[in-house]
Amino acid sequence: MIQLSKILCPTDYSKTSDKAVRYAIELGRKVRAHVRFLHIMQPENIAEKTAYSYGIATGASGEEIVSEGFRMLLMEEKKKGLSADILILRGNPYDTIIEQTASWAPDLLIMGSHGRTGLNRILMGSVAEAVFHAVDIPVLLVKQNAADKAVKDYA
Ligand code: ATP
Ligand code: MN
Repeated sequence: MIQLSKILCPTDYSKTSDKAVRYAIELGRKVRAHVRFLHIMQPENIAEKTAYSYGIATGASGEEIVSEGFRMLLMEEKKKGLSADILILRGNPYDTIIEQTASWAPDLLIMGSHGRTGLNRILMGSVAEAVFHAVDIPVLLVKQNAADKAVKDYA
């Protein structure tokens, strides 16, 4: 029997990453898994700001702090029965996702094929690719337009 009680969903709060978030919310609720959203803070890059899906507050050091928009979205989803938490850590996205996968031991990883950079001409972003190669649990890579279709077709 496949155990699917813990889902880890790393998000950089970009529009592409948001597709994976949406998928994790829907799937988590359907299979009654606990979903942990993991955001790794990095020094802010102003040029990439348009790619954000949620409002991001910026600290004095120019570093991202917390996305209130994301927090509110999750509050709404929790009211509708989702079990979830948000973990915000500092560091290198790849290392941090790997560490969290090892320590929390999720059954499934759901992430976007791309993130803030979002170059569609490459198969997947560097974080997605490195994580995919490194972990030994199933990985669900959600492409930019895939989640909307899936949610609409089967909801
Ligand atoms: P690149 O970073 O290689 O220029 P990209 O930004 O388009 O390309 P990735 O960074 O690989 O693509 O993003 C793919 C997925 O990895 C995202 O959808 C998200 O799930 C995860 N991810 C990337 N960065 C972070 C982060 N800082 N915190 C949490 N998850 C992240
Ligand atoms: Mn990226």
